[in-house]
Parts: sequence; structure tokens; C-alpha cells
Amino acid sequence: MHNNKQMTFSAPFSGAVLELSHVPDPVFAGGTMGVGIAIDPLDAVLHAPFAGVVINVARTRHAVNLRADNGSEWLLHVGIDTVGLNGEGFEALVKDGERVKEGQPLLRFDLDKVARESRSLVSPLILLNGDRYSLTPARPAGPVNVGEPLLIVEGVAHETQISPNSDIRAKHARGMIRVAHNGGLHARPAALVRQTARQFASHAELHFAGASASTDSVTGLMGLGIAEQDEVEVVCLGHDSEVALQALLKALSTPSPDEKPQAPVSRITPVGNDEVDLENGILRGVTASPGLASGPLFRLDTIELEEDRGGHRPEEQRQILSEGLAQVRADVSTSLDHQHHEQSAIFATHLAMLEDPALLDAAYDAIDQGQSAAHAWSQAVLAQCAVLENLGNPLLAERANDLRDLRQRVLLTLLGDARDVAVPSGAIVIARELTPSDLLMLVQRGVGGICMAEGGATSHVAILARSKGVPCLVALGSALLDVAIDKDVALDADNGRLELKPDAARLQDIQTLRTQRFEQRQRQQQQAHLPAQTQDGVGIEVAANVASRADAENAQLNGADGVGLLRTEFLFVDRSTAPTEDEQLSAYQSVLDAMPEKPVIIRTIDVGGDKQLEYLPLPAEANPVLGLRGIRLGQARPELLDQQLRALLRIKPLARCRILLPMISEVGELRAVRARIDALASEAGISERPELGVMIEVPSAALLAGQLAEHADFLSIGTNDLSQYTLAMDRDHAGLAARVDALHPALLRLIAMTCAAAQDKGRWVGVCGALASDPLATAALIGLGVRELSVSPPQVPEIKAQIRELDVRQCEALAQHLMNLTSAEDVRDACRTFQTQVLKPQAIA
Ligand code: PEP
Ligand code: MG
Repeated sequence: MHNNKQMTFSAPFSGAVLELSHVPDPVFAGGTMGVGIAIDPLDAVLHAPFAGVVINVARTRHAVNLRADNGSEWLLHVGIDTVGLNGEGFEALVKDGERVKEGQPLLRFDLDKVARESRSLVSPLILLNGDRYSLTPARPAGPVNVGEPLLIVEGVAHETQISPNSDIRAKHARGMIRVAHNGGLHARPAALVRQTARQFASHAELHFAGASASTDSVTGLMGLGIAEQDEVEVVCLGHDSEVALQALLKALSTPSPDEKPQAPVSRITPVGNDEVDLENGILRGVTASPGLASGPLFRLDTIELEEDRGGHRPEEQRQILSEGLAQVRADVSTSLDHQHHEQSAIFATHLAMLEDPALLDAAYDAIDQGQSAAHAWSQAVLAQCAVLENLGNPLLAERANDLRDLRQRVLLTLLGDARDVAVPSGAIVIARELTPSDLLMLVQRGVGGICMAEGGATSHVAILARSKGVPCLVALGSALLDVAIDKDVALDADNGRLELKPDAARLQDIQTLRTQRFEQRQRQQQQAHLPAQTQDGVGIEVAANVASRADAENAQLNGADGVGLLRTEFLFVDRSTAPTEDEQLSAYQSVLDAMPEKPVIIRTIDVGGDKQLEYLPLPAEANPVLGLRGIRLGQARPELLDQQLRALLRIKPLARCRILLPMISEVGELRAVRARIDALASEAGISERPELGVMIEVPSAALLAGQLAEHADFLSIGTNDLSQYTLAMDRDHAGLAARVDALHPALLRLIAMTCAAAQDKGRWVGVCGALASDPLATAALIGLGVRELSVSPPQVPEIKAQIRELDVRQCEALAQHLMNLTSAEDVRDACRTFQTQVLKPQAIA
């Protein structure tokens, strides 16, 4: 028990006393770590400022945490940025748990070295459980001798709500990291950071450009305006601060697997709605989702609130807002359960925003000033939108729309407004900017197309519109909102045009084209469950790439012939602890069960490089893409690979499971795993052996395909990595995105070489990289000798339809020609020409 009574904190060094706000470090100066004082020391020894117990001495011996007999807990931190000295020049004179007397030496340090090699000698003395104590200076700023009274520390009653900081227990950790998320810390990465931080008891903050935000607040994090490659500081306070820090550093420096490099987009693109076009009745916008539509215009307005005279009763309004928020949270959670991977990330972000302390505090504060729940919420959200819009980062500005969505949803709930208005089926909806939930509501109403005055092609509405197949243009400018709503219009989202004065013939054309496309998709879908054979009778397996059971179900619906690649690393990305063998088995088995009677290729874990797992921290590497990744990790951590192989061997029926090894670069790696599978299967009394294949994603593997095929049952080409390693261009480099093209003739030659060598040994070759999903590449791949294509699930029907139009001999001639071209661009042109000359129009996408 601590007695909470008053105590004197005496100077731990001789030197100059400074107010904390004068410490040359914003984290200390801004009070993030807690309240306190600082000394610029003249002594090379840190003394105990009071009698107490050493909670711990920092591993790098630059700081001591001490608990006084009145229960106050202190961080005595020698200098600034001294953690970087890694203990050099510091000697600990006490141990963790040791009882110390006032004035007892705690640390000795080399004053000159620390002064030379750290940012500053100024030493912050921080009260860590500041909500329970008040501090009164016992002397003015200026010189002090060791042992002289510095502060009076007194316990205070604290019946008030405990602040997040109150759980801080005398441990802190901080580190710098470059943010790797494409587009910076926008909503989804911010939500990921929050989710990561929440797994720990520590309180965490991000500091950037003189501002800071708690990791609890998605809007606060976004409000820091952190761009990709910006360096931020992470500070964690609490007993698990070290692990929390490591997890956050990793979350910030690892782009999410489904993030694509995004070219900067401008929020409102001046697309040229000049007078001539307007006279012709054409408005131009940016394609967010392609397609054609025609129908009546329908305008969807945002909710405007009447002026609020104030004077509401705060308790009542607090209750109304909290019930409204709870209702919306429940609705968003339901949406979350029913969406696929990409869409669920959007709604998970919304859920995080609905719990955002910065937003909630602002809203409840406004209620306490007498505002209504609706106005308070609306104002809090709009203020945050303004922050995001003024950061000068187009991607963050787009995320303001997610906030407006939440404004709208909560207002609808609070006001009971029937906004699920009577949108005529097939209507072209115009709006300043729609929100994701508006979009889902409109899809349910059978909307024909969507046009927004604002917005960008990377917004969440755009992602949803694409995934729902609704034609959508954004950034049409404010002229859109002045359009008279009295007749049918045509939306040609393929070409970025909204035609306001289409004649009857044009409307008819659009209708006909739509019907043709719809029927084509229907035809493809009807045939999707049948095997795909070329005109000359060669069977090509069209499987799907999946990362979850839901993806596998989608693949099954789309007629996939199996799973060509299950990326097992993605099954466990959102965990902070390693999955057990049983958990792995159940995840793999569920994918097999979603694909009755079809083969499922399961790739052993492929982390490292651009893919990181929280529960599997890998050592930092100078060049991670060339480091410990793929099968090399299995060699370095055999227990991990063994555990996964044991789980794979328990799959039923084992005959449907094929194991695939990533990043193989020589035959020895394959032979070692085969031997391991044999040993583990024998141990478990299993006589059957699953087929074992290798990925061809490194040039050395393609060059040694013959030797690999002697020991493997099949080969699967990973064109994503094969491009990266062949062209020496980072596959995630936004500036090189257009050039990392797997249709490069050099890649085609490696693919041809792989297929020829495998065929010699009687093995089949598939492609599971993204090139397999590109309809322009289908003929070329078949011509090169590929016999299995593993594609994204919605692409299965179209790729199968195209295969049925092809003749293998023609494809082979095409492939020969392509390999002699000089660039990926020329290859693409030649593929286009081939498609128009050889394929029936309906087989061309
Ligand atoms: C590839 O490299 O093409 C591949 C399929 O593997 P991943 O994209 O998972 O690295
Ligand atoms: Mg790969």
C-alpha cells in the first residue's frame, strides 16, 4: 500500500533547472510522457531524488524508473536521444527491484561522451502516474545543487474518470520509422495502426512535424498529414511498451497486402467541362468504375440541418447521441460481416472512426455547451473533414468523404429521416459526393450509374462501385449540380462522359451495348462451370488465387477448376500471435471444403520482403526483398515450416491438397522439404504424400526449371516476383509501376524456357502471378506452354471464355513472335492486334 502523502523530490543532479516545456524534444516538452521538470546536469551521476524502489533500469542504462513511498512513479531520463548510445558510456549502479535511499547514486555516465554523441544532456524527470499527484515547484528555474528540494509531490483524490494515461506504469519506449503505406497514413492504415495499438495495454502516440496524435484516434492520426516515406516518431507508455512499440513500428512500415501503389490523384480534376462541350451537353469526369448506363437523372442531396438555437439539456442529448452511435455501429458491423475482403476494410475503418475519441470528445463537448446531439455530431465531423481537406494530401482529403458518410448515417439515425428515398430503378444518380453507405443503398435500389461533382478515383466509393459493377464518374465539377433534372441521360463511364442531351438513337445504342455486355457476361458465367478447352482440344485448367475461405467460396461460384494459389501468409495477417497447428489445419481445411472435389494448391508461408506478419518479427535487413523470405525463412526457422507441414499433412482428403514452395532458387531447397514431408508423414503414420510443386519466381529457378522438374510434381510461375527479379524493379515502386510489366519479352523467354524444360520431364506448368488474370496475356501464356492459369475469382468466366476461342498452334506462333519483340509495350500492342484478328468479338473483354 502506498501512503499517497506529500513528499519532497530533491535534485538528482547539480545543474540548471528548466521547465519541461523547454526540453529540446517535443515528446517531453509537450507533456506526452507526463508532467515534471528537467535539469541540465553538471554531474556525471544520477542520484535518487527520494527514497523508494527501482522499478527498472533501462536496458540501455540511460534511464531509471523509480517508485516513491507515496506511490508516485518517475522516469529519470539522462539526456535526450541517449537510447541511441546503446548503453555506451553509462554504468548502472542499482538493480531492478532494489530499495534505494534518497541521494543514493543510481547511474554513472560519461558526461563528455553523452554531451558529444546525443542530442542534449538536458535530463527530463517525469511523473508517470500524474493523474494521482500534484506537483509544486520548490524553487524557481535556475541553478540547483544535488539534494536540494526541487518539487513538492502531493497525492490528490481522483474519483474522476481515469484518463488513458493513468494506466501507465513506469515504462516507455520510443522509436522512429518511415511510413511505408501507399498514400501515407490515410484511413485504412490509420485504422490498422489503431487496431495494432489496441492489442497492448500501453498508451501510444505518433509524433510528426511538431504535432501528435493518440493511436486511439483514426481522425487524429489522419490529421497529422503523414505522407508515404515520412518519418514519424512512435512513443509508447505502459508495462508492455517495448512490444507495443515493435508492433507499431512494423504496422507503420509494412504496407497492407492489398494496397496497390497509388499514383497521386487530384481531388477535383479539371476534366475540361468547357463551354463547347456543355453546349453539346457533355460533362467530362474521371472514370471511377467503367461501364455504360442510361436513364433518368436523380439528385441525391446531403442532409442539411436547420439552425440550432442551443439550450438543449446535455444529459438528454448525450443519451440520444450515444444511442444513435450504438445503432450505427451495429449497422456497420452487420455490413462488415457481409462484405468481401476489400469492402470489409472500408467498413472496419468506419467502425474505428465511430469510436474515435477525438470525434466523440468534440461532439460531447458541444453537447455540454447546449447543442443538440445532431448539431454536435455534425459539427464535430465537419471540423475534422476541414482538417483533412486542408492537409494538402489528396488521398487524405478523399477520406473526408468517409467521415461525411458517418455524419450522414448518424444524422439519419438521430433524425429518423427516410433517406432511403425512392430512387427510380436504373436512374443515374448525381450528387456532390456520395458516401459508401449511400452507394450500397443505391445498389440495392438498382441504380444505373453514379456521377459525382467531387471525389477521386481511389475513394472508397470508387472501390465499392467497381466491386459492385456500377458505372461511376467522379470529379465532374460543380456544373453537374446545375444540370436540369428532366430527362434521360447517357453515362459512358468507359470514356469519362456524361451525355446530357442524348438523342433517341444514342439512348438506344447504349441500351443495346449494355444488353450485349450483360448477355456476354451471362453466357460466360453459364459456361464458367465447364472445363475450358481450346478449339483444338487442349484442356487448360482455370483455377483461382485465394486468401481466405470467403475467396474460395467466391471462386467456386465463379466456376474455378480449383485453387491455384492459397497464400497462407494472408490467413493470419491480423493476428499478433502465431496460429497453432490446429488453427492452421482448420483454415486450410475450410478452403478445401469450399471447393468440393477440386484440387487446392496451398503455398507454404511466404513472408519477408514486402509481406510481414506481426507475430513473426523478422530481423531488419538492408535489402529485405533479397533477404530472408519465402522458403529461406523455412530453412532459418525449421520449426515453423515443420508445424505448417504437419497441419498440411492432416488435411482430408490429402489427395486434393498440393503443396507449393515459394521463392525456390535451387534444387536443394526442394529436396530438403520433400525429405521433411517424408519424415513428418512417417512420424504421423501417413502413407499418402501430397503433390509438391515449386514457384518459379526467381530467374535462377526458371533457368534450372529442368532440374527442378525432376524433383517436383509441378511448377507454378509467380510472374509478380519473376518480373521484379528479372527486371530489377521493385514490384511496389509507384514510380515504376507501369514498367514492371510481366509481358516483357525477357519474362516471356523465361516462361518459355520453364515450360519446355518441364514438358521434357513430363511436368505441367501453371501461372499464378497477376499476369494470369490479364485477358490480354491468355493467348501468349498458352502459346508459351502454360497449362494452368490461376486467376482472381471474378476473372474465371472471362478467361475460360477466351480460352475456348483459341487455337494452341496460333497461340504458339503468337508467342514466338512476342519473344522477339523489344519491349512490353510492343508485346501488348501485338497481343491486342492478335485479339482483334483472331478472337470473336464476344471473347474480347
Ligand atoms: C508471384 O510472385 O507472382 C506470386 C504469385 O507470389 P506473391 O505475389 O504472393 O509474391
Ligand atoms: Mg511471389
